[in-house]
Amino acid sequence: YLIPLGLVTSALLVALVLWALRQRLSPHKELAIAVKNREFVTLYQPIIELSTGRCVGAEALMRWNRPDGTSISPEIFIPLAEETGLIEALTDHAIACVAADLARWKDEAGGEYGGMHIALNISSADMQSGRFLAVLAKTLADANVASEQIWLEATERGFMNAAAARATIERARAAGHVIAIDDFGTGYSSLSLLETLPLDTLKIDKSFIRAIGKQAATSLVIPHIIEMGHSLNFKIVAEGVETEAQQVYLRDAGVEFAQGWLYSKALPADDFLAFHNLTNRPSA
Ligand code: C2E
Ligand code: MG
Ligand code: MG
Ligand code: MG
Repeated sequence: YLIPLGLVTSALLVALVLWALRQRLSPHKELAIAVKNREFVTLYQPIIELSTGRCVGAEALMRWNRPDGTSISPEIFIPLAEETGLIEALTDHAIACVAADLARWKDEAGGEYGGMHIALNISSADMQSGRFLAVLAKTLADANVASEQIWLEATERGFMNAAAARATIERARAAGHVIAIDDFGTGYSSLSLLETLPLDTLKIDKSFIRAIGKQAATSLVIPHIIEMGHSLNFKIVAEGVETEAQQVYLRDAGVEFAQGWLYSKALPADDFLAFHNLTNRPSA
């Protein structure tokens, strides 16, 4: 009976390989279906002006809410979408969400909050191609939202191909967008990028913010990042601010903006508007 057992074993092996292959392939298929089904929602994490404590806008952060009730982090699905060419669809979706929410907020607030800006994460593939800019321009025009209200941010990886990035940045700036370099300090060639590309804002990665006040080598670098950013005329945003001590340090160092759980996690659109309005009341 050794032969049938061998057959069973190989049949099991084949089944296992097929299953593994399906496991590898299914996320791609799933992602395509989910984009279609609008399972991706945009949340808004408030950005605070440190000198006044006012909320001046938010970063749009995407979540994948599955029909089974689970929520998948963009740390997982964004790289997957980049690998499979689905990132363009996700970027278009984020643009549509942000334009619709800004238009609605303007209506609800009677045009009082035109100064608010929303930071949109642009993947490195989008940054290289620049294709999203036409979609962005049309979507904003259709929604009657000023392009000055949209900030664009990409990580250093998005600026690595400097020639392609420069073309995209120049077009984006001409359209009125502010451009930020995201997760600053975690990638390569940071200094040369800052010196050569026409960027406006530098977002210090949360790993540096976490080191504030700690006996870590990283904490020694922070004052230099801030000083260098300001000497190159960048506005600075600190991300991942979680403690009062970090806030005090950053404010004293002249950092313009902060974002983090100390103020708020990323919120659904309506909750964000309420948060924004609360910190912008004359009495606040
Ligand atoms: P990011 O652009 O650096 O966004 C900041 C991340 O830090 C967010 O994670 C945010 O929720 C988290 N965060 C904010 N405050 C704190 C804090 O005080 N403590 C800690 N520990 N974390 C904090 P999230 O939402 O999981 O997003 C992860 C990354 O996914 C983002 O990093 C961004 O690179 C990417 N991403 C998110 N939405 C989009 C999108 O619509 N398009 C693209 N291309 N990328 C996106
Ligand atoms: Mg970001
Ligand atoms: Mg960031
Ligand atoms: Mg980051």
